[in-house]
Amino acid sequence: MPEVSTAAKVLRFEDARHTVEEQAALARPIATESVELHSAAGRVLAEAVLADRDLPPFPRSTRDGYAVRSGDLVHVPATLDVIAEIKAGEKAATMPTTIGAGQSAAIMTGAPVPDGADAVVMVEYSSERGTRVEISKSVQPAENIVPRGAEARAGNFLVESGRRLNDAAIALAASAGKSQLRVYKRPRVAILSTGDELVEVDKVPGPTEIRNSNSYSLAVQVEQAGGEALGLPIAPDEPKQLRNLIEQGLRADLLLMTGGVSMGRYDLVEQVLSELQAEFFFTGAQIQPGRPVVFGKCGERALAREKLATYFFGLPGNPVSTMVTFELFARPMLEALAGVSPRKLAFVHAKLKSEIKVKPGLKRFLPAILSGEFENTQVELVPWQGSGDIAATARANCYIVVPPDRELIQANEFVPIMLR
Ligand code: AMP
Ligand code: MG
Repeated sequence: MPEVSTAAKVLRFEDARHTVEEQAALARPIATESVELHSAAGRVLAEAVLADRDLPPFPRSTRDGYAVRSGDLVHVPATLDVIAEIKAGEKAATMPTTIGAGQSAAIMTGAPVPDGADAVVMVEYSSERGTRVEISKSVQPAENIVPRGAEARAGNFLVESGRRLNDAAIALAASAGKSQLRVYKRPRVAILSTGDELVEVDKVPGPTEIRNSNSYSLAVQVEQAGGEALGLPIAPDEPKQLRNLIEQGLRADLLLMTGGVSMGRYDLVEQVLSELQAEFFFTGAQIQPGRPVVFGKCGERALAREKLATYFFGLPGNPVSTMVTFELFARPMLEALAGVSPRKLAFVHAKLKSEIKVKPGLKRFLPAILSGEFENTQVELVPWQGSGDIAATARANCYIVVPPDRELIQANEFVPIMLR
């Protein structure tokens, strides 16, 4: 068996993550397509959505009440003439020309505030007296009014290109009259599971065989991150067939492999990639689970085709390692290929329910459960059998992030977590 020609490059977690982010900044999304607004949720915007007019387009009352001149209400109670009623959608023809001194107009939430008025008094502080109204509370100028153009001016950016479209972004596009949106096409992500012990999900495994589950968890993660998952057949731990399948996978926009990247005699993924003249950015990260994770790219030299190099990840085969390393490293590259603007990985914090003891040296991402309610949430580790334990991980809803210099973390300390 030929020697693996790559020198090991094991990076600190943060350096490995930054390496991916640097490469992701160089990656370009594939192409764009137009979709209907109602099916654009979760897609990545490939154009800027601009305000087609001022938002709001008129000074908008935020309350039901009376449009007034605040100067008339310095001394209260005060009684004003009611010269009009203005509802949301009131036509210009039926609007009062102006509110003069001592006058007011009954007004509804979302209605245009008439000229002359500079505030709205809530209906709660009024009592109707025929064609007049008694007001019991003073108001500040501009109170309960959103001025025209205060949210956005005509021509301003409402949603920038590179944003993944969520409820608020879709609502903004709707308010700007965009019934169709230009979005990036989903990158095609080849998924290759390796290992002689693996059988497909619909086969009965022999006594020492296991079913391929990583291809399925990865497909879910790929789709959630905005990619299109392309499953390849299982690769055996044999260089020729493995090479054949890796070459197929490199025709996609991104290749994810699992298994075969540790130190075992039949861990052949790096060897085959070296034969294909791959460039390795790292071949390990100081994390647990997932230490043997590999990141690189493989260019046209090896594949004789007109396409830029394809990025690949060799993810460790242990199912939890596969899930964690996808989240930490493969996701930002996939998102870049999907057109998403770069963003940093930021952990949130939660209060630890019971103490954690670990061996220091690696940054750990340990399956955990965040529980409790409202402002009182707590997080604790899920008991597990290590990075092969899918059952424990399925019970978890987050990972606790333990820094490499911590051996003991006491209960009630706030710890970083990564939601899943
Ligand atoms: P490896 O990274 O190839 O050394 O595999 C590490 C562990 O993960 C072994 O116990 C494998 O049997 C298991 N494993 C590897 N690939 C898969 C897969 N696709 N699905 C489920 N388990 C796997
Ligand atoms: Mg293996």
